[in-house]
Amino acid sequence: MATIHLDTEIQYLKGMGPKRAQAFSKLGIQTIGDILTFFPVQYQDRTKIISVKDIYEHGHGCLFARVGNSYERSLSKGLSVLDVEIFDDSSMAAARFFRKKNPYSFADVFAPIKKAFTPGSYAYIYGEVKLERAGRFISAIDYEVVGEKSVKPVLFNKIVPVYAATEKLNQKFIREIVNSVLGMFGSLYPDISELIHNFGSIPNMKSEDAIRKIHYPNSLEEAEQARRAFALQEFFVLESVLSLSRNSIKKNCKTQKYDIRRTLLPAFKNNLTFEFTKEQKKAINDIFADMQSLYPMNRILMGDVGSGKTVVALSAIVLAAENNYQAMIVAPTEILAEQHYLTISNMLSGLDVKIVLATSSTLKKKSQRDKILSGLKNGEIKIAIGTHSLMEERIKFKNLSLIVVDEQHRFGVMQKFAALDKAETPDILMMTATPIPRALAMTLYGEMDVTTITSTTPGRTPIKTYSSNENCAYENAIKELKNGNQAYIVYPLADESDKLALKSAVQEAEKLQQTRFKDFKVGLLHGKIKPSEKNEVMRKFKNKEYDVLISTTVIEVGIDAPDATIMIIHHAERFGLLALHQLRGRIGRSAKQSYAYLIGSSNGENANKRLSIITSTNNGFKIAEEDLKMRGPGELMGTVQHGFPEFKAGDLIKDADIIEFTKSHATKIIEDDPLLVKESNAVLKTLINKHFSNKIKLINVG
Ligand code: ADP
Ligand code: MG
Repeated sequence: MATIHLDTEIQYLKGMGPKRAQAFSKLGIQTIGDILTFFPVQYQDRTKIISVKDIYEHGHGCLFARVGNSYERSLSKGLSVLDVEIFDDSSMAAARFFRKKNPYSFADVFAPIKKAFTPGSYAYIYGEVKLERAGRFISAIDYEVVGEKSVKPVLFNKIVPVYAATEKLNQKFIREIVNSVLGMFGSLYPDISELIHNFGSIPNMKSEDAIRKIHYPNSLEEAEQARRAFALQEFFVLESVLSLSRNSIKKNCKTQKYDIRRTLLPAFKNNLTFEFTKEQKKAINDIFADMQSLYPMNRILMGDVGSGKTVVALSAIVLAAENNYQAMIVAPTEILAEQHYLTISNMLSGLDVKIVLATSSTLKKKSQRDKILSGLKNGEIKIAIGTHSLMEERIKFKNLSLIVVDEQHRFGVMQKFAALDKAETPDILMMTATPIPRALAMTLYGEMDVTTITSTTPGRTPIKTYSSNENCAYENAIKELKNGNQAYIVYPLADESDKLALKSAVQEAEKLQQTRFKDFKVGLLHGKIKPSEKNEVMRKFKNKEYDVLISTTVIEVGIDAPDATIMIIHHAERFGLLALHQLRGRIGRSAKQSYAYLIGSSNGENANKRLSIITSTNNGFKIAEEDLKMRGPGELMGTVQHGFPEFKAGDLIKDADIIEFTKSHATKIIEDDPLLVKESNAVLKTLINKHFSNKIKLINVG
């Protein structure tokens, strides 16, 4: 047989077999190397043995006792129970096992247990201990029986790893396979510890040692230390990749050049009815500097809903137009594209720049389509505002130099915009309204430069958010409606295809129209409505043809209806904090006081904590951070970006400090050796190619 190495598929391991290999594969584990980093999800502390007489509380614990007789009986529902008497010097108890009976078999379900627990031998037992009227018990989860009292146990007197077992892969098997792989191949794991300096209190462990200690720590503290040590290496590899990829973007010098000509910019500024805020000015400075550099801009502008990103982007667009280049702004939906078209046309009114709205609707009619297509191709049209339609083959530009992507997170993978062949080396500006903490942003948007706007635009009254009951919320809504304002009423659907829930939202809407809101016009919006109709409903709401919009969560993040001052959110407990925050961002879009009412979310300690966060602050970054702490990064990442690498040991919240450190450290290493040709960086290169070759196409490391 060929030599085994870390890339060898696990099916070649002794004792694995195709079924288990397949079960592992479902967990994303294909190779022997993957087994090494298949880390425990938790640990059982089996270091302390409690004496039997000390069983008086519920909880998990270990006993060590002499085995006595066994008694078996049947419970109802096809369940049998076996009690094994156990004794230590202090007292006696019963180790209790439950097994399901197989109705088609006479085989003894307890046979293996009875065989192991021969009277007179000694047993280590881990499980849930309880004191009941009938005596002391331990519901056995795991055990190890030794013949002599003095024999050392394998899985007791230590911290024992608990893995994500499945039906086809039991804990015991996983432990055995991990243990044997560690023993045989642990030393093969590429070690990059020499490239990383000590960081803070984290010891710089050899990779192999860290891996070993994560599986078999001597204490829970050691487990956490080893996890952080391995995370340090993991994030270091990732940050190296990101640094390489930033370099490769910058490698291509661009051909477009921008001068501040002041042919359009001053007129545009004059058109605005407000002054830029400090943060907007800084963002514009960052962007102009990028545009005037030798390399294409690759920047993300992150700012809460209503922080005024559009004018910032528009400044860049006007700079491009001033220099006779074309620019486009891509929005995720028609309604947002239309909204941009209207506000941008307004802000640029009187300026000599041609703007076009390119969506599937405007491209439908032949005459109109031909005008758009030819105007873009011959360069007459300077600014194209649109949807995905702008990416179509048939859309050709004369000299597109700037691509602005609004609500970037709605598009998924970012690279595809760069890869578009509409322009050779376009400057790219992404915008997102999903605020995320700094360390996370640095990693998520690692290939990009990040500008953050944390304040909202002046002239707005902060939204007041209340946890409320239906009646009170509706009464206040009606007051607002009578003053000529508008209201959103939101029903969450777990899933837009959930027919039953949808039906109830639709029925509720009808009922509300006939009862509470009989004097007002009510519109309805949900995921099952055709896109064109959805647009129509949104448009009517914006134009105040509807007073109330009843909706599932499909209302656009960026939608601007300044008279909407009320939002009632039903089942608020089903939303994440950030989702709630973004939902309520549809109101509060003017100087008027707006109110958000959260209904049905006041049960339990967690719910209360969530509520107090959302009602006490309007700062999206703060909320995102709390959201992350409470729910873990998985869900947030899902909303931000698909296909983000998973970390074996790294934790995006707990390890924020590590991320910052590894970013600067990796950047230095890559600056010093941009192609990773140095012998000292060989292992790093191996790891990068191994983990990222198919994920990040931008790097050209051989
Ligand atoms: P978002 O960041 O959510 O895309 P917008 O760009 O839609 O926010 O801006 C929200 C509103 O704030 C718009 O009506 C815009 O005209 C207005 N606005 C932007 N900047 C300022 C400012 N500096 N002062 C006052 N209003 C502003
Ligand atoms: Mg916006």
